[in-house]
Amino acid sequence: MPLWSDPAPCDDDEQRYECTECGTRICSETAPTACEKCGAEMRNISVPRPE
Ligand SMILES: [Zn+2]
Repeated sequence: MPLWSDPAPCDDDEQRYECTECGTRICSETAPTACEKCGAEMRNISVPRPE
C-alpha cells in the first residue's frame, strides 16, 4: 500500500514525480524539467530517499 494518495497509477516503467512547490504529481518515464503548472522543480518520489 502506497504511503501517499495516488489518484493516477503509473505504469511499471514510469516513475512518480512531485512538484516541490504546489505538490502536483505526474507519471513519466523521463525526468521532467519543471512543473507544468507552476514551473517549479520536480522531485522523484518513486525511490525512497535514505536519511
Ligand atoms: Zn508546481
